[in-house]
Amino acid sequence: MKVAVVTGASRGIGRACAIRLGKEGYTVVVNYSRSEAEAQSALDEIRSAGGDGIIYKADVSDLAQVKQMMRDVDKQFGQIDLLVNNAGIVRDSFLLALNMNDLDSCLDLNVKGYFYCAQQAALKMFRRKQGVIINMSSVSGELALAGQSVYSATKGAVNSLTRVLAKELGAKGIRVNAVAPGFIETEMINALSDDKKKEYLDTIPLHRFGRAEEVAEVVAALAGDGFAYMTGQVITLDGGIAL
Ligand code: NAD
Repeated sequence: MKVAVVTGASRGIGRACAIRLGKEGYTVVVNYSRSEAEAQSALDEIRSAGGDGIIYKADVSDLAQVKQMMRDVDKQFGQIDLLVNNAGIVRDSFLLALNMNDLDSCLDLNVKGYFYCAQQAALKMFRRKQGVIINMSSVSGELALAGQSVYSATKGAVNSLTRVLAKELGAKGIRVNAVAPGFIETEMINALSDDKKKEYLDTIPLHRFGRAEEVAEVVAALAGDGFAYMTGQVITLDGGIAL
């Protein structure tokens, strides 16, 4: 048995990852912060595909809740094999109009939350000298899109964190990689106006947005033994937008 913790798994990319990993045979911890019904429906889908897991409510921008979650998961299953650090938010704004509460919530979840989960999961993985951490980054970690300074800064931090943790944790048998999606059809994208969607589509060589299941495919591959020699990499999955 292998145990995967997926943060922010009630919807979007996290949900697709949880379901994909469930189909791979992982026992999946479907983490959510608010929407219990959505988390339960993700778990139901995992179960109907023959997999299993639990739902777990925790705000991953809160260290105490992250500690409790990893402790409880470790107690219940005896191990954590995979962490998908996925929960993230966007608060786009130009610098001159930036609301500092938005800055704080982005940094708290997209950066500090990733540190909290990585540290608490690695403390469990370290014991068994094996584990995989996959951080959900974004092409915005490299691309400079006006209005995205905060989000870009957080995803740039995720990329740096990925590389440094790969160095620190490699000798402990823990691999750390990141996936950097471009525009993926989730509620994040659904919130855009039709004009904005068209404008973005025109900049994507494959001329479509990606699907959450396509991100999950990469996550499942990176987690598997086929990629046992890969660590510290940020894999871009963006239909060519960053080229
Ligand atoms: P989404 O808004 O659909 O889902 C985010 C999930 O995180 C939700 O389930 C939400 O409930 C959860 N969440 C929010 N705050 C939380 C908290 N404090 N604790 C625990 N869970 C919390 O977003 P998405 O599009 O699926 O994005 C998932 C990840 O992928 C994010 O890190 C995002 O930055 C990244 N990403 C998304 C896109 C895209 O186009 N959708 C592109 C690149 C990167």
